[in-house]
Amino acid sequence: MSIPFVDLKTQYEALKTQINARIQTVLEHGKYIMGPEVKELEDRLSIYSGAKHCITVASGTEALLISLMALEIKPGDEVITTPFTFVATVEVIVLLGAKPVFVDIDPDTCNIDAALIAAKITKRTRAIVPVSLYGQPADMEEINRIASQHGNIPVIEDAAQSFGAKYQNRKSCNLSTIACTSFFPSKPLGCYGDGGAIFTDDDEIAQTCREIRVHGQSKRYIHTRVGVGGRMDTLQCAVVLAKLDRFDWEVERRIEIGQRYNDLFDRAGIDRVKQRPDRSSVFAQYTIRVPQREKVQTYLNNVDIPSAVHYPVPLNEQPAYRHLCCSDCTPISMQQSQQVISLPMSADLAETDQFRIVRELQAALQA
Ligand SMILES: *Cc1c(COP(=O)(O)O)cnc(C)c1O
Repeated sequence: MSIPFVDLKTQYEALKTQINARIQTVLEHGKYIMGPEVKELEDRLSIYSGAKHCITVASGTEALLISLMALEIKPGDEVITTPFTFVATVEVIVLLGAKPVFVDIDPDTCNIDAALIAAKITKRTRAIVPVSLYGQPADMEEINRIASQHGNIPVIEDAAQSFGAKYQNRKSCNLSTIACTSFFPSKPLGCYGDGGAIFTDDDEIAQTCREIRVHGQSKRYIHTRVGVGGRMDTLQCAVVLAKLDRFDWEVERRIEIGQRYNDLFDRAGIDRVKQRPDRSSVFAQYTIRVPQREKVQTYLNNVDIPSAVHYPVPLNEQPAYRHLCCSDCTPISMQQSQQVISLPMSADLAETDQFRIVRELQAALQA
């Protein structure tokens, strides 16, 4: 039987009663936009993360866009980020007319290399956007320190993949000025469509994000700023609320499964993305590194093991963004993009399936 890359079916079976009941409640009260589940979810996520404010939005991309808009990022501004991420991180910077400044990654974790950030700060730097890639928080303490040394540059954690992860004793989404997460179905905490959230301790930023989310509206039909249509549907909030019932258990399983993969690959001498001891990853992706990746993917495909590449092309090499950076400024990202391969990962992944995946991988590498 083939192993799902992300097993949403088993999760739904386990939570069917709660999810169906939550959806039914929304269908009955009929408040599809900004219904009571929106506030309920925001309160729950704020408590869960430890951040004072949570603002749900239409997607992770929208969370990033609204956050940058709240910081008044405009043409001519520079935003420091990583090229080794999903396109949304950089897309929103460019949409606002600002310039992404790419900093290379640490080859162990594939997160932004904090030691390279200070050299890229100029008087036009308006924000730093580290990505907590594959579910592991970036070096947030060091990044915050650099940001505060350079005149309190705001730090936005792109936590689209890391909701539920921990950094020292704090949760991802509560590690910097602002954090953005995504509830895209395959993320560690997913809904059944698009959704996302913004987190901050700053009252003013929170209020600004709330206004931008509804067309810059401060009162009904009074538009005090330019905004977007960026709300998260009540139905999607209801789905996330139901999924929260099992989320702690899922985070524990993900860590356990990730660690088992680590042990198996280390024993097999297969190179993998590393985790730092002062933080936990929720393994949004479980990612290893192989030579001749295409050959390995074909082999796995033939034995019904799905795999994916996060990400095959660094963003500063993409046609739409290439002109924004010299091509050889991030050699580690370039090298990683040619080797990384992500394997099936979900809280419900069976141990026997994991053994099979590792066995087939060894066979693929020897083939
Ligand atoms: C998924 C993802 C996003 C975008 O989230 P959407 O909800 O799909 O818009 C942004 N950044 C990273 C790193 C992501 O993985």
